[in-house]
Amino acid sequence: ADKQVAEWKYAACGYCSTGCSIEVGLNADGTPVASRGVADADVNRGKLCLKGIFEHELFTSAGRGLAPMLRNHWHDQWQPTQWDTALDKLHDEIRRVQAKHGPDSFAIISTGQMLTEEFYTLGKLTRGLIGTNNYDGNTTLCMSSAVSGYKRSFGSDGPPGCYEDFEHTGCLIAWGSNLPEQHPIIYWRMKEAQEKSGFPLIVVDPRVTMLAQNANMHLTITPGTDVVLMNAMMHVIFKEGLHDQRYIDANTNGVEALRTEVEKYDPVTAAKICGIDEDTIRVVARTFAKAPAAMQIWTMGINQSTHGSDGVVGINNLALITGNIGKPGGTSLSITGQCNAMGTREWSSCSGLPSFRYLEVPEHREEVAKFWNVDPEFFPKKRGMLQTDIYQAMEAGQIKGLWLIATNPMSSLPNTARIRRAMEQLEFCCVQDCYQDTESAQYAHMYLPAGTWAEKDGVMTNTERRINRVKPVTAPPGEAKPDLWIFNRVAERFNKAGKVNFPEQAGDIFLEMGQLSKGRLADISGMDHALLEQNRGVQWPYTATQREQGEAPPKGGKRIYTVDGTFSYPDGRAKLIPLPFIDNNEVPDEKFPVWLNTGRLIEHWHGRTKTGKIGNNNKYSPIPFIEINPDLAAELGIQRGEYVRLVSRRGDAVAMAQPTHRVPKNMVFLPFHFHDCANRLTLGLLDPHSRQPAYKQSAVRIETI
Ligand code: SF4
Repeated sequence: ADKQVAEWKYAACGYCSTGCSIEVGLNADGTPVASRGVADADVNRGKLCLKGIFEHELFTSAGRGLAPMLRNHWHDQWQPTQWDTALDKLHDEIRRVQAKHGPDSFAIISTGQMLTEEFYTLGKLTRGLIGTNNYDGNTTLCMSSAVSGYKRSFGSDGPPGCYEDFEHTGCLIAWGSNLPEQHPIIYWRMKEAQEKSGFPLIVVDPRVTMLAQNANMHLTITPGTDVVLMNAMMHVIFKEGLHDQRYIDANTNGVEALRTEVEKYDPVTAAKICGIDEDTIRVVARTFAKAPAAMQIWTMGINQSTHGSDGVVGINNLALITGNIGKPGGTSLSITGQCNAMGTREWSSCSGLPSFRYLEVPEHREEVAKFWNVDPEFFPKKRGMLQTDIYQAMEAGQIKGLWLIATNPMSSLPNTARIRRAMEQLEFCCVQDCYQDTESAQYAHMYLPAGTWAEKDGVMTNTERRINRVKPVTAPPGEAKPDLWIFNRVAERFNKAGKVNFPEQAGDIFLEMGQLSKGRLADISGMDHALLEQNRGVQWPYTATQREQGEAPPKGGKRIYTVDGTFSYPDGRAKLIPLPFIDNNEVPDEKFPVWLNTGRLIEHWHGRTKTGKIGNNNKYSPIPFIEINPDLAAELGIQRGEYVRLVSRRGDAVAMAQPTHRVPKNMVFLPFHFHDCANRLTLGLLDPHSRQPAYKQSAVRIETI
């Protein structure tokens, strides 16, 4: 492909949150024909994973929307229309539904797939002009437990560490994270550092994942019991005097209540609940606490649980009692999901107001209202429903209108049958997406064709808070438009007097965001688009003052907190929070005797909306399959390659059997990527703090076909 390339164009990868710098090669006709990693980029140093290598195929993939479409009922044929007609109708339908059923009866759900300037503009439009409080992102499905846990422990969202911590750590615990498949380039960074320093890698996961195969210790925990293991480790650490009393005294509140709670979780008692033997619990606790610096990472194995937020707080508790926040190699680093999940966390939908400001705080409402030139009384005084609650409200008939942007709940939400019932109830649904053929668009009355990833201009934030530039590599096809253009045209219709300013250019919006971020945790006032491109991404914070004083942007080792108490609670101290274990999971029983575990494959991205259409990704994993223990397969008379039916209390799904010792005899693993498959079975139980669904713990039975 290199031979055909006439020009290389720079962007950051649009799949996972690793934040790799990528160049897309265009041939003489301007058609994208190749992708390559950028050698001088701090994150990926020239490398890309399988998805990045074939990312250029995205631009010419099938199913792209080419024109706005309308229809009266979701079962009618689509009719193409003009942009003005569609946008007038969107404005009129929002106002009609709000007038008839109340301002919050129209919900807006966005995504971690858009660029940050787009989130910010959508947030301004939604909070400042449209006035619904039921506005959220699909990040509730992947990151809201991390957000909630960070806020509870440290007083604010924001991953405190960075990839460079791998190079300084003396011990790494990975909780429910399979880096080699999910974040391959972070795995490469981790592995390279481990080969140099030899730190022990401890993996906590019920399945023998690729990361577990590389671990020094693998703890095959009973699903949903991570908090018990964490409490037992803290029990050992306190009992054996391995905690860091100086750090605890200087930087935290709540240690006595925590000690009282973990006293109940001696290793013998805990072992019976979490399935890890008592000696292993002791060894892991000692290894972690005695390391000069110790690091923890986690992904969906923690977040997607009825205890997701508590799991994150438990990780933070472990880090805090051992003095492992703020020093190189000592951190609790949430490995984020989508390419720009952090952007939506920082700039609106997860907190209510931009730059980690909250609707519940009067000064935050005042500051943003003044900056945007809107009435502060227009803002709700507390955050509305999260995405998972919005669908329940749709099903109950409380929410009647929906604007769905670059997300596909008919594939991604648990319990598909229930989401279908919710979608069918809507009086009006607009789907804005780069693909017209998504499962959710089947229930829409309006379709707006959007540009994808590097057909647009802006930035994204990665797992280590690095803001990366995305530049347009090519133009959207047909009549499709960048999401920013669509939001600005909708804003014109709600902003006839022009009271609120909506800049057209992403670079100007970024500068506006910088002004609004001044003095906040995620201060980006020292950055602009040119600086970001020049440095292949810059970690926040980087302030205007730092820049004015000639301080260079951080190269990669920036941490938010120091070892001397700079947490975001008003007194600067972090909270140690006791975590009683509440056993509320669905567990296997006589009727549904096998655990269902779900997760990702390296070839695919989420609902396969993109990678299912990219031949070089899809050919490696074209159909749903289950990993099943060979002993269980033999007991049930199931042969390799045979199709089986999985049945849960919510529905059934068919997949091909692949016997493997990766899973224990009482568990099957099913990739979640395939439509009408895993989420027909999964349980919609929600974490009480984060409202994130427990995708990973449910019970099924297996039937031969
Ligand atoms: Fe893209 Fe993530 Fe792969 Fe990097 S690791 S190339 S960001 S999908």
